[in-house]
Amino acid sequence: AKACGHGNCVSYDINFTNKLRHKNDIEILLKQADFEKDFEVFYQPQFSIPHKKLVGIEALLRWNNLEMGYISPAEFIPIAEEISYINPIGEWVMGKAIRQISIWNEMYDFDLKVGINVSPVQLENKTMIPALADLMRKYAVRPENIDIEITESIAIEGEHKIKQIDTLFEGLGVSISVDDFGTGYSSLSYLKHFPFERIKIAKPLVDAIAYANYDMQIVKSIIQLAKSIGMKTIAEGVETQEQFDILAELGCDEIQGFLLGKPVPADEFEVCYFGQACN
Ligand code: C2E
Ligand code: CA
Ligand code: CA
Repeated sequence: AKACGHGNCVSYDINFTNKLRHKNDIEILLKQADFEKDFEVFYQPQFSIPHKKLVGIEALLRWNNLEMGYISPAEFIPIAEEISYINPIGEWVMGKAIRQISIWNEMYDFDLKVGINVSPVQLENKTMIPALADLMRKYAVRPENIDIEITESIAIEGEHKIKQIDTLFEGLGVSISVDDFGTGYSSLSYLKHFPFERIKIAKPLVDAIAYANYDMQIVKSIIQLAKSIGMKTIAEGVETQEQFDILAELGCDEIQGFLLGKPVPADEFEVCYFGQACN
């Protein structure tokens, strides 16, 4: 048919097949991965606005493998969730990050929070919270040093579910940040029931504030609402000074982004942020 030129259809099919193959490959490689060898946790700084004081750190998983090289977590985490492999991966990340906190605790007067991403799928797993509690005990890490990042998509689960999750983490004394706020589900109203520590304003929204008045207004509303219920806001993926200035103007509390620091390995993080100046 005309609407679907022959070449187009064929190339679509090839792309689709390649994608499936690629996904299959990732599944297989993921299951074969030697976590200690192939995985690494990177750390990205978070700063206060406007003084750019280091206030927190996000732990981000990195995966390098011989066959395919670097694969982004944005790509393999959804696959890991789908094949029910996110639990061992998530637990490994938690272990690494908590061990790192204990090392920094010994080296410095470490009073920062390290944000650990927890997939909604992991929250279904009954052993997740006990595992976190065990790790905190094992490495003698205080709950004040841990922030759990949960995506706002969890709001779909309804108030009862969120309450349950909130209670579990509250029991441990760790805080919760709502990740990727403003991308998908976004219901501002559910926030009022839960004393989350922070709202992380999603990068697509942050990207738009410099050129779209509508998005700027949305971010403004989020920040105002958060303030009114005692939650902090952090903007994700801040890349330009212009974005920074607008966020400062709007009263956003913190920022995270390439403008002030990319995710780096732990030893590099120490040199840059705990040691001398870093370029
Ligand atoms: P996320 O939780 O929203 O993490 C922030 C992502 O934005 C990270 O991508 C970070 O490198 C990136 N980023 C930060 N600042 C900037 C910026 O200024 N510009 C741009 N272009 N990007 C910026 P990353 O590390 O590739 O991770 C992607 C996603 O994979 C994460 O998004 C998170 O959803 C997931 N992920 C990463 N590590 C883990 C983990 O240990 N567990 C789980 N469950 N998910 C993880
Ligand atoms: Ca996150
Ligand atoms: Ca995010």
